[in-house]
Amino acid sequence: METQKLHDDIIRQKEEKDVVILAHYYQRPEIQAVADFVGDSLELSRVAASAPQGTILFCGVKFMAETAKILSPDKTVLTPYPLAGCLLADMAEPREVEEAKKANPTAQVVAYVNVYAEIKALADIICTSANAGKVMEKTEGDKILFVPDRNLGAFHARTMKGKDVRLWDGYCPIHERITPEAIERVQRKHPDALVIVHPECPPRMTEKADFVGSTSQLLRFVEQSDAKCFIVGTEEGILHEMKKKAPDKDFLLPDPIPICDQMKMITLERVHKALKEDIYPVIVEEAIRAKAEKAIRRMLEL
Ligand code: SF4
Repeated sequence: METQKLHDDIIRQKEEKDVVILAHYYQRPEIQAVADFVGDSLELSRVAASAPQGTILFCGVKFMAETAKILSPDKTVLTPYPLAGCLLADMAEPREVEEAKKANPTAQVVAYVNVYAEIKALADIICTSANAGKVMEKTEGDKILFVPDRNLGAFHARTMKGKDVRLWDGYCPIHERITPEAIERVQRKHPDALVIVHPECPPRMTEKADFVGSTSQLLRFVEQSDAKCFIVGTEEGILHEMKKKAPDKDFLLPDPIPICDQMKMITLERVHKALKEDIYPVIVEEAIRAKAEKAIRRMLEL
């Protein structure tokens, strides 16, 4: 089926079947175009929990759809492609985290939302890239085990006074490749562009950037800034929303362009099939879900 027909059929079916479609900012533009809400993982989970529809079709990677299911256990959460995972989330195994907890019995485990349900269940509290600093600051005690993103953890640990922050050795390979060199290749032709990057980028990049923020914070920044041109250090899908929010501004990407193949596994054809056939339901074992929900709710209460 051609793209326009798929688009129209998805819109018709979601209304007939009373399904809400949620899409992350890193999704393909044609997926964002059929979504009822586009946002970061936390915003989308909040929308999922309050949406009146009984079924949520979540266009993002596995941990995001799981988070929606954890917060909305009575709803059906569908993912268009269950194999779309996250290379960062893959870097924390439950057994390893359990061992690290035993080795650091007084540490509070702060887990970035980019982990699977089993790790969320082992955490004391969850954080997102938008609130990691605040969560770490408010965490009880003076020792933190931050899982799994060493870059996000290091970015906030620098400003943590009186806290011993142990960083997991995980990273997002897509953001890890956003380096000062990758930015400089673009900067040569656009010396006046502001450099804005995600905190999943390595420290030598975040130290040099003009602004560091989560996807939502980057979006707000480009809208409010007086600058006209930006080099955007995060997954390229964000440009779709940036151009919508600030159509009179220019957005450039590092060289090489950061593309998350896992996010791009969600295609319009797969969304169409999932909607038509009511596949694939996200299942989280109740004992894990309940513990994971507790850790997420702690963050939401802050
Ligand atoms: S961009 Fe990185 S952190 Fe985000 S889903 Fe892809 S692999 Fe995971």
